[in-house]
Amino acid sequence: MSRFGAKTVKTDYKQLVTTNFEFLGPHGSIFTILLLPLTVLGLYFGCSQDGCPPSALLSLKFSEIDFTGFVYDRVAFKAYIGWIAFHLALSVATPGQTVQGTITPDGKRLNYKINGFNSFLVTMSLLLSLVYKHGLKPLLWIADHYVQLAIAGIIFSFTLSLALYLRSFRSNQVVVSVCGNSGYPIYDFWMGRELNPRIFGIDLKYVCELRPGLIGWFVLNLSLAARQYQNTNSITNSMVLVLLGQGYYVIDALWNESAILTTMDITTDGFGFMLVFGDLVWVPFTYSLQARYLSMFPLELSTQFFVFICALNLFGLYVFRSSNSEKNQFRTDPSHPAVAHLKYINTARGTKLLTSGWWGMARKINYTGDWLMAVSWCLPCGFDSVIPYFYAIYFLILLVHRAHRDDELCRKKYGKDWDVYCEKVPYTFIPGIF
Ligand code: NDP
Repeated sequence: MSRFGAKTVKTDYKQLVTTNFEFLGPHGSIFTILLLPLTVLGLYFGCSQDGCPPSALLSLKFSEIDFTGFVYDRVAFKAYIGWIAFHLALSVATPGQTVQGTITPDGKRLNYKINGFNSFLVTMSLLLSLVYKHGLKPLLWIADHYVQLAIAGIIFSFTLSLALYLRSFRSNQVVVSVCGNSGYPIYDFWMGRELNPRIFGIDLKYVCELRPGLIGWFVLNLSLAARQYQNTNSITNSMVLVLLGQGYYVIDALWNESAILTTMDITTDGFGFMLVFGDLVWVPFTYSLQARYLSMFPLELSTQFFVFICALNLFGLYVFRSSNSEKNQFRTDPSHPAVAHLKYINTARGTKLLTSGWWGMARKINYTGDWLMAVSWCLPCGFDSVIPYFYAIYFLILLVHRAHRDDELCRKKYGKDWDVYCEKVPYTFIPGIF
């Protein structure tokens, strides 16, 4: 029995073999592996100083599109590697409480150092001291090498994912992910074969999940705001909204870092190209699209629209944070006064499923809050181009797909108990509607 009365679920982890394919199986994974980097580059060249999209793209005159920057840049590559190495070093060097993760398939609980927020503070202090010493130069360098840094990230992600895939065969004691051990190399490279790869005691998936990508996103936003300031001598209120809304999201995620220990990424998925690329390239380079758009096309919003966007952001944040914290609190200490009154069902698996509070309203109410925030980050870009809305559109598809994935996984994990839960909580995203 674990600390809080849940039965220890020990699976014969050496028998974990993927039988249920996602992302349209091995062929679908090849397509996705190619599509993702192309999307990152497409968003860069498809939304540039020449227009968003540029007129040359609209008239299909590809030879006239400005592909400046589409090169391997050695300095940018070193800067990118240095950034990853810096965060790996901070994960060891900065102080933080050590907590246990959920039970792994081999019946153990791994330790995790919760120092993401402290790593953020150290990073920001260093950045501030650089700006104090050199003015906006370091930030402008980042903004002006945006695509070179993205290319470095793409090369690095392919290399790391391949190394992790090969390394997962080092011993038959390696704990594999039930999602990434199909025997199809490309598929397993994509999904991630090893569940929790650790090198010199550093848990690579855990450290990469939030720090280099999320903090990188924030730094990219700051650099794009610096670029806007350099170009126009001012910062628009739309840029302020993007900086504050997304900045708070990043800080909130790092402050509540322990909450990721119960997410699918940590408990179920292996560390393959899907997460490596997602964490280290996709998040920083596609989520900063709104700031990049505003750095090129500054926009001043009316006070009413400004207030409306703030309210939408705060409402989304409230739903997102309270629902995630409620589940996390309940799962770590169900007797805590904040959650002790909530109703739940006991399951044969040993864990409890909440059926009241946020989780009694809809099974994925946390996703709804997250998506409302996504919309509030795109609205500051106005309505001249649909491209800055890429994030809200893509995120909707991701969350619907992820909700479906999680539902399937939970049905497998919980069997009939999951059907009982779905009967009690029939809605997925919007209580009473959907
Ligand atoms: P959840 O936090 O919703 O976790 C799902 C798991 O929670 C289930 O597998 C199940 O696991 C447990 N669970 C489900 N229902 C209940 C219940 N009623 N009571 C108790 N436990 C329950 O999903 P994610 O890990 O996907 O997402 C976490 C957050 O991260 C979300 O808010 C999401 O919006 C955000 N996110 C953001 C992304 C981004 O790119 N910005 C990308 C992905 C996610 P078990 O019972 O086995 O513990």
